[in-house]
Amino acid sequence: MLSYQICIECNQRYDLDDIIYYCGCSGLIEVKHELDASLRWHDKVSCHPGLDPGSSKSGVWRFHQAVLPIAKPEQIISHPEGHTRLYQRDILSKWAGVNELYLKHEGENPTGSFKDRGMTVAVTQANRLGQKSLACASTGNTSASLAAYGAQAGIKTLVFLPKGKVAPSKLGQAIAYGAELKEIEGDFDAAMAQVLEASKEQGLYLVNSINPFRIEGQKTIMWELFEQLDWQVPDWVIVPGGNLGNTSAFGKAIGEAFEAGWIKSKPRIAVIQAEGANPFYQSFKQGFKDLKPVKANTRATAINIGQPVNYSKAKRIIKALNGLVEEVSDAQIKEAKAQIDQSGIGCEPASAATLAGLKKLVLAKEIKAKESVALILTGNILKDPVMD
Ligand SMILES: *Cc1c(COP(=O)(O)O)cnc(C)c1O
Repeated sequence: MLSYQICIECNQRYDLDDIIYYCGCSGLIEVKHELDASLRWHDKVSCHPGLDPGSSKSGVWRFHQAVLPIAKPEQIISHPEGHTRLYQRDILSKWAGVNELYLKHEGENPTGSFKDRGMTVAVTQANRLGQKSLACASTGNTSASLAAYGAQAGIKTLVFLPKGKVAPSKLGQAIAYGAELKEIEGDFDAAMAQVLEASKEQGLYLVNSINPFRIEGQKTIMWELFEQLDWQVPDWVIVPGGNLGNTSAFGKAIGEAFEAGWIKSKPRIAVIQAEGANPFYQSFKQGFKDLKPVKANTRATAINIGQPVNYSKAKRIIKALNGLVEEVSDAQIKEAKAQIDQSGIGCEPASAATLAGLKKLVLAKEIKAKESVALILTGNILKDPVMD
């Protein structure tokens, strides 16, 4: 089985083990696996035969042939993660105005966000390559996840955070797991620019979602969702958009599942941004002419990003899946969060953008009451419980 990296713009191929985030042409990089035909259907839910019991319980590594087949069991840094629940609550379906609503709670991952799904793969790749320092810029959850996986791997971690803009519990996690903090005067986008620079200069291994191995892990959110629905895909998948790593991962997962015959149709994707951090929405409205970075300002700190690094991947996904991008106000996010919290499920503010966006899209008749919808709740309520 052959795996390699490839530029999404010019198709330049790179070795799987090259450390590269941008092609020479400045295009983004993705990982590809040429799957053996015999693996196509039945093995999608199999475990790695050689994995230890801890790892084989992972909702990511059970799909190892389509995630990082080259990883040997002893190289895998798995918490384990994944296997998150899928909820249905009549009260939320009624509030949003659809008949069939599912909420997949990625806040049930080990450090409380979906970032763990990508982090297990990025840190495993770093471990395979013998990397000595791992780094990320973060609005909070990536740093918590990196710090935990780095601690498990015994590899040093550095986290670049926008000073005063990270929810206290996320900051507390990064400190407790033992990351070295670099607090940046400025916003997330400034921290992202600095960590990119530092990774080049100091040889830090970068694990933001620009790292294509993160995307490979996050694909499993879709596969697990489809499996929970007996491989009947919902009409819509709705996700909050920040750096647009999940959007990119979901599109890739849907494409690969369709090609492999795991699913017979493809869902549409709706990406929801906060009004105060809406560069993807603005670009979508203008037919994706270009990306104009914004000065981000939303209370939903996990999506407080003005210049999403995965823009070009996400744009392709929205086009390919006939998707939509919508924006919601912080007041609408707060209202939706209260609904999710009061249903007994709970989530952090950014995650609630999905329900707020759904309600708006139903009112706009973009989504019909009879269509089935899956919301991806990206983070745990404990991350940022009270939205003021
Ligand atoms: C990281 C994060 C997001 C944004 O996801 P992207 O893949 O960067 O678009 C949304 N919600 C939560 C809780 C997050 O941690």
